[in-house]
Amino acid sequence: MAIGKNKTFQKNDHREINKKLKFFHFSENVGSSLPIWLPNGELVKHLIKQYLKKLETEYNFNFVTTPVLGKIEMYKTSGHLEHYQEYMFPAIKVNEQKLMLRPMACPHHCKVFCHQNYSYQDLPVRMSENVLLFRYEKSGAIHGLERVRQMELKDAHIFLPKNKSIIKKEITNCFFMIKTALRKLGLKIDKIYLSLHDSENMKKYYHDINLWKKTENILEEVLTELKVTFEKVKGEAAFYGPKIDFQVNTVLQHDVTISTIQLDFLLGEKFKLKYRTKKQNKGEIFATPIVVHLGTIGTYERLLSLLLEQKNGWLPFWLSPAQIMIFSMNNDETTKKYAQKVFEFLKSHDLRVEMMDVNKKISENIKLAWERKVPVHIFLGKQETESKTITYIHHNHPQTKHNKDIFQLIDQCQKWMNNIESEKNKKQK
Ligand SMILES: [Zn+2]
Repeated sequence: MAIGKNKTFQKNDHREINKKLKFFHFSENVGSSLPIWLPNGELVKHLIKQYLKKLETEYNFNFVTTPVLGKIEMYKTSGHLEHYQEYMFPAIKVNEQKLMLRPMACPHHCKVFCHQNYSYQDLPVRMSENVLLFRYEKSGAIHGLERVRQMELKDAHIFLPKNKSIIKKEITNCFFMIKTALRKLGLKIDKIYLSLHDSENMKKYYHDINLWKKTENILEEVLTELKVTFEKVKGEAAFYGPKIDFQVNTVLQHDVTISTIQLDFLLGEKFKLKYRTKKQNKGEIFATPIVVHLGTIGTYERLLSLLLEQKNGWLPFWLSPAQIMIFSMNNDETTKKYAQKVFEFLKSHDLRVEMMDVNKKISENIKLAWERKVPVHIFLGKQETESKTITYIHHNHPQTKHNKDIFQLIDQCQKWMNNIESEKNKKQK
């Protein structure tokens, strides 16, 4: 029994699935745990980025690009050097400067905030970026795409006034945005953590117990008001504040975080962030914002590893690198010409469609299409060619559709593409 179970785990391991799908690669020559995204994986990543940009735009985020390096002094200010140094690559000395590869982008986003000279009317300021991060994970901790040393995080920071109801509203919005994104991706969450500090081990945390209570209560109130089932976990907070973490159990039973909302009352103070208040006439000209760190889908590396494992490689239709494979069931020239027409027609409707390899047997082609997890197979023979129809099957809907008009498939594909929302309408659900 146990052996069978282990075999399943092994089969569903994203590293195993990747052998056929060719999404990513690691080369010892490049460096351990530094992922190389191959064309299929890069396409999937691009599609997710496109989707998230649309979703974030609906939630009024702005987009920035910041450098992968930062001066060592900046990480002293942020506290990363004190609390996170063991996960950072050593500094690079250039002339008189010491530069470090960033493990997080929060300090860079603070610098954007400083530069913009915001007033209270501009807040909340929502800033998003796909950031490349570098973390020196120990050899024993690295695992496929799940835990790597270079990663790309969908990272965002929200700068807010110290006003409880505004903070709660913003965290609620972040929560809905995460839920919408995960639903669209079809990723199943196993549990939600409210990650708290540990009063018996304060080494890695700041020492203001009242501030911990205040920030932890805000997150707990939001989860309670949303009627979310969650677990409180002591000692899992970030060094700067408590978190709401969306957890997934991997096939190897690793309990990993995918999405996260983190509340930080310190970062604004550390970087001396200021915005102009409306009380200028009373002499209170500037105030310091608090920061919410938002990871909507975590890193693209971990996200892909979880999607592949949960779905055994069958990504949702909108993410499949090849969505449709066309099979010509005979060698007849008329059928071949018809197949080419069908191919071009579907392509003109922005579908990712491929023709079978004519140098291989049909049975071999079908086997390959299944292995590559192409979700829709179209079969064209004499009958279809004469009646100008198609016969097709979707892997998730095993009933074959015979002699259908091609527009019927196009309509169906649109439904599969939009399988979930209309984000705006459903985000409040
Ligand atoms: Zn951050």
